[in-house]
Amino acid sequence: MKRTINHHGISLEYEFTPKPVKNINLRVRSDGSVAVSAPRWVTKGQVEEFLLARWDWLIKTRAGNLGNNMPQFGWQDGETFHLLGQPITVKHQSGSKNAAQLQENILRLTLDTPNSAQKVGEKWYDTFCVQQTALLEERVWSRFRSMGTERPTLRLRWMTSRWGSCMSKQGVITLNKRLFSLPPHLAEYVLLHEYCHLLHPDHQSGFYSLLEEFVPHRKQLDKQLKSGAYRFVR
Ligand SMILES: [Zn+2]
Repeated sequence: MKRTINHHGISLEYEFTPKPVKNINLRVRSDGSVAVSAPRWVTKGQVEEFLLARWDWLIKTRAGNLGNNMPQFGWQDGETFHLLGQPITVKHQSGSKNAAQLQENILRLTLDTPNSAQKVGEKWYDTFCVQQTALLEERVWSRFRSMGTERPTLRLRWMTSRWGSCMSKQGVITLNKRLFSLPPHLAEYVLLHEYCHLLHPDHQSGFYSLLEEFVPHRKQLDKQLKSGAYRFVR
């Protein structure tokens, strides 16, 4: 039977099977799905306690397996991805002029030929990222400006292994375009992290105490960032 456990803002689904075994057994399959088997007398609470004791490992392993097995995103009809934390489905329609329009949870791509899906989708996403960066900057800078640093320039780029980076001397912060797949509170957290680097370029304790003034529950957010719960367009 399917069950769900929620912890620190992450919702994890697992398949529970009662079996004539001695102990609780946990397996993260290669597709990222989670399977638990246990003797019949083990309660749901005991299973959850068991999972929570292994939570960090579980989330990390699941994210790794999901990442390895997820087919590349191609802006194809019916494909889904996340935008500001919400699932969005791509729908194709043919038309004489290429266009993209987001309506509720549907991204409608009008295509002159099906081959242009990738080009039209990426162009739309680039524009979306630029708009969202401006909105994100408004929200987050208004919280940070009282620190008295000069307002940095924000740049956008595809990055593979980090959400953002800060060149404090040059006053330039680069954000990963993948940031806009995440829920707004996580994107804000990433930008706050980079703003804090303007005052503390390293990751020493001074940096973390400043960051925690803005985000006391930052460790929870770090976990959410690593959860692998979001599907990126690239
Ligand atoms: Zn950092």
